[in-house]
Amino acid sequence: MGRVYNFSAGPAVLPEVVLKEAQEEMLDYRGTGMSVMEMSHRSAAFQQIIDEAEADLRDLMNIPDNYKVLFLQGGASLHFASIPMNLMKNGVADYIITGQWAKKAYEEAKKYGKVNAIASSADETFSYIPDCSDLPVSEDADYVYICQNNTIYGTVFHELPNTKGKELVADVSSCFLSEPIDVEKYGVIYGGVQKNIGPAGVQIVIIREDLLREDLPKTVPTMMNFKVQADKGSLYNTPPCYGIYICGKVFKWIKNMGGLEAMKVHNEKKAAILYDFLDQSKLFKGTVRKEDRSLMNVPFVTGDKELDAKFVAEAKAAGFENLKGHRSVGGMRASIYNAMPMEGVEKLVEFMKKFEEENK
Ligand SMILES: *Cc1c(COP(=O)(O)O)cnc(C)c1O
Repeated sequence: MGRVYNFSAGPAVLPEVVLKEAQEEMLDYRGTGMSVMEMSHRSAAFQQIIDEAEADLRDLMNIPDNYKVLFLQGGASLHFASIPMNLMKNGVADYIITGQWAKKAYEEAKKYGKVNAIASSADETFSYIPDCSDLPVSEDADYVYICQNNTIYGTVFHELPNTKGKELVADVSSCFLSEPIDVEKYGVIYGGVQKNIGPAGVQIVIIREDLLREDLPKTVPTMMNFKVQADKGSLYNTPPCYGIYICGKVFKWIKNMGGLEAMKVHNEKKAAILYDFLDQSKLFKGTVRKEDRSLMNVPFVTGDKELDAKFVAEAKAAGFENLKGHRSVGGMRASIYNAMPMEGVEKLVEFMKKFEEENK
């Protein structure tokens, strides 16, 4: 069996050329006589891998010099805790609840301070992004937190919230490197790489230098102390070496594709193929308010659970994998990250048309 079209929400599809390159270097990485998996993280060869990865990421995202880039572990879920631990000086933070990941981050932050939910779209099953132009931002909030792209529900902040001068912290796990962003608008940008960049196990944290603190409470675990991690160049302990190596290859792949501007054009075209079909289909419909649609995660339903299940099963048999919606939402979800080729979405739409014909 050949490779399938993999619409998984994460871990997700990676560029085939990257996998092939990794395969070629698997047994002997560039004359070192060993795999990157077998290499000391203190070796010159690995130092070059991590340095190049950081330089390419800085280049791609246009990250200013006064921001640090950290390659960490623990999943985005660990950083639901490390964000408040590192950033709460007043012990206050405001959260915008646009889905399960935002909610989990909010619940975790409550362990560390006074946390306010200043907006939410829970009233309509997170199918939209609330108006964030004039929110009741707390006077003494250390930061305002968003989950920028809501992986499960398929919404995205096309416009950032007005934080009224407070630091913006964003979980970008499922939209990392999908389009250009203005790093300077954020205090912290972070996310797991297993959605849009690389293998599970790597977290990237981009943090403005002045937010790194010497005076963290002693109870903050060293591994979660962003200042320590920054001072040690992400090498306080053994980092997720192989994952960082693959991320570095994906950064180069994106650069070869023309960078984030080109990625955005590519992603918009790809998403439009699916959304345009959904908008005219008599069987399938999108579940999200049009203005807030994600370019990365596209949930849709037929309105009939049995038909949804039939679709998912037939799609799988035809080589379209992982189209089942998140267990909390049901229906279907096509995650169409950077590495999903245009052809994958075109073929999926063809298949959906055929299914619609057969199930009138
Ligand atoms: C997947 C996901 C997470 C959770 O990531 P883990 O690495 O499993 O902890 C958090 N936030 C968003 C937006 C996600 O898509």
